[in-house]
Amino acid sequence: SRGDGGLVSREEVGRATWTFLHTLAAQYPDKPSRQQQQDARNLVDILTRMYPCGECARHFGEVVRAHPPQLASRAAFSLWMCEVHNTVNRRLDKPVFNCALVESRWAGIECEDEAEGGGSACSLD
Ligand code: FAD
Repeated sequence: SRGDGGLVSREEVGRATWTFLHTLAAQYPDKPSRQQQQDARNLVDILTRMYPCGECARHFGEVVRAHPPQLASRAAFSLWMCEVHNTVNRRLDKPVFNCALVESRWAGIECEDEAEGGGSACSLD
């Protein structure tokens, strides 16, 4: 038992969420369909309302309104994610990350096995 009554810290949910978001961006298509772009826009928009830390969600909403998601390609979306994460980093007095390195820090999910009947188990396009 963790001895914390099941509570999760802001730091823990933050790290888990950034891992999810940067990994999602790393696997966003190079040439996204309109549906894929709308899905990414909706995901970000929902986070600005449902992220499980109210103050964080409100602040993230201001960040996203000032700097709307860049959805035209994997590179554009990965860079945008890095930039909004840096805006949060600055607010929390954390080091700013060099976004030229984002695609090596976050390269997508480990994927050894291929799905049955062709197609990768991990990539989206
Ligand atoms: P994290 O910031 O969680 O980063 C995890 C790892 O990502 C780092 O170790 C580094 O390897 C890498 N990384 C760092 N910066 C970047 C970048 N720019 N691009 C790519 N990779 C990077 N906490 C609050 O206290 N107040 C808030 O208002 C708040 N708002 C948040 C809003 C959102 C949408 C999210 C997802 C989190 C928010 N958090 C907030 C949590 C906060 O951002 C951190 O996740 C938490 O403080 C833990 O920080 P950390 O030092 O472990 O690294």
